[in-house]
Amino acid sequence: SARCLSGFIDDACGATFENVEATNAEVRPLLKELVKEDYFRYYKIDLNGERCPFVWDDGLCGNKACALNLESEEDLPEVWKPKRLGALTKDSVSRDKNVRQNERFAEFDLEQEYDSRGDNGGSNYCYPEDEFAHGGVYVSLLDNPERFTGYAGPHAQRVWRAVYAENCFTGMSSLPGEVSSPLNLGSGLVPFGQQDFDLAEIDSYANDLPHQCLEQRIFYRLLSGMQASISTHLCYEYLDMDAGEWRPNSTCFESRVGTHRDRLSNLFFNYALVSRAVSKLNDHLNDIKFTDDTKHNEETREIVAKLTGLLQNTTSAIFNETLVFSTPEAITLKSEFRQRFRNVSALMDCVGCDRCKLWGKVQTAGYGTALKLLFELGDNTDEVIKNLRRTELVALFNTFDRLSKSVEAVEYFENLKEGARQES
Ligand code: FAD
Repeated sequence: SARCLSGFIDDACGATFENVEATNAEVRPLLKELVKEDYFRYYKIDLNGERCPFVWDDGLCGNKACALNLESEEDLPEVWKPKRLGALTKDSVSRDKNVRQNERFAEFDLEQEYDSRGDNGGSNYCYPEDEFAHGGVYVSLLDNPERFTGYAGPHAQRVWRAVYAENCFTGMSSLPGEVSSPLNLGSGLVPFGQQDFDLAEIDSYANDLPHQCLEQRIFYRLLSGMQASISTHLCYEYLDMDAGEWRPNSTCFESRVGTHRDRLSNLFFNYALVSRAVSKLNDHLNDIKFTDDTKHNEETREIVAKLTGLLQNTTSAIFNETLVFSTPEAITLKSEFRQRFRNVSALMDCVGCDRCKLWGKVQTAGYGTALKLLFELGDNTDEVIKNLRRTELVALFNTFDRLSKSVEAVEYFENLKEGARQES
């Protein structure tokens, strides 16, 4: 066939676009059902999180499409009410955007706050939402789809720039304009909150990839694949202003993703990585308590078992985690990798549109959980599994669903293109 999308996915250990599409065809129906389950649908999010190291006054998105529909606690299904999960106080945090002044040293607060919680932070690749913390709101992920919101311009670009700035690992070739800041790995800190390089330089990362080690390439691919997936969603559910409807917009997709093979490859790479991580849960389902309610616990476990079982049979061919962090040099990179990914998840507090922030937080927490399952089991398996939060599991499965829907959307746009080619 004349398909554009075929062949190997870089760094996915032999996987091809075709492998991922075939896996997705099997998994998609099950995953669609799973995210409709109450357990996976309600997510607690702190919209007032204060981990953003910048103060940007401009550009908060006032569009209606940027807003979220919130759930009141009374409307939550009985079994998922906070009292069943633990104590929860009403939202008490004011939305004061100016709480942080000039905080180049935000990493100090962040890491100290994190360590003091003593919640297995050492193996975490993100700041998962805390269901038992003060503040925060419940949302139904189903009722707040990730789609075009109109959030754009310098504000959104600054967030992306700060996200990619986390890609500057020790020893990595410097980007023009990068602030060289000695890393203090001894105290467990890496510089956070760099925004001094040009967005156009993001593309130079992609060109530089062949000269980097596998772990650095993976870090970059995760970010680029996440952005490609977000772009795919917003182009697939784009607001057609004339019709007042949400529709696929192929011009949007082609310019942001479709004509960039590297971005497509990174999106599929993320699918391979996350699906492999999800499959890892299959061996540990009896150690996970979804809720105190026995009936719901079993129902939820059954669905998860079906999906993870299916993936266990297919994903060993699409991602091989044992090749990552396997050399002595790479092992020393691991703690930096972990902290930098945590920084990326913290940057989601900077996003100026609540709906984008919701999905940015869900997805960075989802990738963070996937990385933990791939690279932190082994000696720590019992501890890692026992300490998994509900919000981490919800984020993981919903991130997988995002990627699965993106792969489906890519196929849709590819078919459109193919149809147009045959007609002409
Ligand atoms: P952007 O997509 O902002 O890209 C900026 C630059 O990044 C590009 O010029 C290019 O150099 C580089 N780049 C782009 N894609 C990639 C890639 N895949 N890999 C590597 N480099 C790349 N908008 C919505 O409508 N709905 C949402 O749900 C939404 N969620 C968002 C979540 C987050 C965390 C952020 C930061 C933004 C979100 N946005 C969302 C905004 C959206 O991502 C774009 O920033 C916005 O649409 C403006 O797009 P743009 O054309 O300026 O380019």
